[in-house]
Amino acid sequence: MKCTAIVLAAGSGRRMGGNVKKQYLEMNGFPVIYYALKAFQESFVDEIIMVVSPGDEEYCGREIVSRYGFDKVRRIVPGGKERYNSVYAGIMASEGADYIFIHDGARAFVTEDILERCLESVQKNRACVAAVKAKDTIKLEDGSGFVKETLNRNLLWTIQTPQVFEAALIRDCYERLLASEALLLAKGIAITDDTMAVETFSDVKIHLVEGSYDNIKITTPEDMVVGEAILRKR
Ligand code: C5P
Repeated sequence: MKCTAIVLAAGSGRRMGGNVKKQYLEMNGFPVIYYALKAFQESFVDEIIMVVSPGDEEYCGREIVSRYGFDKVRRIVPGGKERYNSVYAGIMASEGADYIFIHDGARAFVTEDILERCLESVQKNRACVAAVKAKDTIKLEDGSGFVKETLNRNLLWTIQTPQVFEAALIRDCYERLLASEALLLAKGIAITDDTMAVETFSDVKIHLVEGSYDNIKITTPEDMVVGEAILRKR
């Protein structure tokens, strides 16, 4: 059984401000992207494909992969305009995988426990995603700034990564997703995560796996402060 992780680091990091892309900013002395790669490097995952901004391949290879000895990183490929374009680039670069773990490189605090729960689930359910129960009450807007309805909090989950799939399933769904890209965009549907592709283009149900409230995505400068606090309590 071969498990491949696709670690995404091709975002522009615009919300972070400043000149250095967020994935290369340092948190407790290491670049943000180091932490997710380390978690996969030390796990049961067989190989890692890194997806980086076009032009960053050499920098990443030298300053991240070689420098920290992440020898499970087998390929560094250029990403695309949107997250789903980057995911597709990663999927196309994978070879012979049975299961594909898609992970936001900005989620620095994924743990071996989460990865193991995902593996167990994907073997049984074909598709799964790390998630946590919503802590806040969440309301649906009517489109004009007023509340349409209050959703039942007991059934609401905040979606994280990894999102894990049988390789053939995710490849097939992504091919269909890209073929319908123009139609989805015309309908104003934003493709923000990978499970959407499987929900839309297959009958496979996605299992919700317990993630962690620490498994945050480092997006804004405030997240760096929270991230450093999470590292201190580890
Ligand atoms: O932009 P967002 O916070 O949703 O990004 C989630 C992850 O996807 C980040 O790790 C980012 O680097 C990656 N990404 C990417 N290619 C893009 C946009 C985002 O690899 N075009």
